[in-house]
Amino acid sequence: LVSRRLHDSRSVVLVGPPERQIPIGPGTFTLIAGPCAVESAEQTLGAARLAAAAGATMLRGGAFKPRTSPYAFQGLGEDGLKILADVREATGLLVVTEVVEAGDVELVASYADMLQVGARNMQNFALLEGVGSTGKPVMLKRGVQSTVEEWLLAAEYVAQRGNLDIVLCERGIRTFEPSTSSTLDVSAIPLAQQLSHLPVIVDPSHACGRRELVVPLARAAIAAGADGLMVDVHPEPEYALVDGQQALAGADLRELAAAVRQLPPMF
Ligand code: PEP
Repeated sequence: LVSRRLHDSRSVVLVGPPERQIPIGPGTFTLIAGPCAVESAEQTLGAARLAAAAGATMLRGGAFKPRTSPYAFQGLGEDGLKILADVREATGLLVVTEVVEAGDVELVASYADMLQVGARNMQNFALLEGVGSTGKPVMLKRGVQSTVEEWLLAAEYVAQRGNLDIVLCERGIRTFEPSTSSTLDVSAIPLAQQLSHLPVIVDPSHACGRRELVVPLARAAIAAGADGLMVDVHPEPEYALVDGQQALAGADLRELAAAVRQLPPMF
């Protein structure tokens, strides 16, 4: 279902209600930005304003956070979803947020414009089938230890439930390099676009975990033909509860906005 073989052209996924739909795919370039985690209404609105100023049309932000440590901030849950919905009304940015458990799919879908399946859950088949049944677009992140083929087969689980509105998100894979949290697999961008008809976007923030590398990796993703970017921004990265070291603010964000504005005419 997601293979390119039976599709003449690459697909565009439409996100949001008919009156303010955002296309993701060939012929357009989508910037998604926002905090790694929703921490408060003030912080999320501040991040959303930074995102909008950089040219983003969608807001990211985790209300349910899958954390490596059980002692780390786990997210605000439904309160976080309400904040995202309020900020959508205040800014016009559409919302993508992660759903971590199959039992929460309906709840998250009632607030989000697009459902995010995170790297850790790429092969959570019950979750994939759950998001496939909602009718909401799905952003499927690549697992850090997954091949491109496994990633596409995970997308196939979503598609099998009748939902072909899937956006693939390359977010880096685990390699032997310890200086970055993951290693951005640039070749996966054209590869996934050649093997499937789905849009492919890139999350340079989670790929490297280091603010100073986010813009260079974003440029690499753009050059490799990515259909969009998803980046972490935070109004006060030094006080962020999650991954502040990779959040953009200020000059780096302006540089990212300039890189996106300088996209070649084909976009
Ligand atoms: C995220 O985008 O919030 C996230 C946790 O990313 P990943 O699933 O790629 O680690």
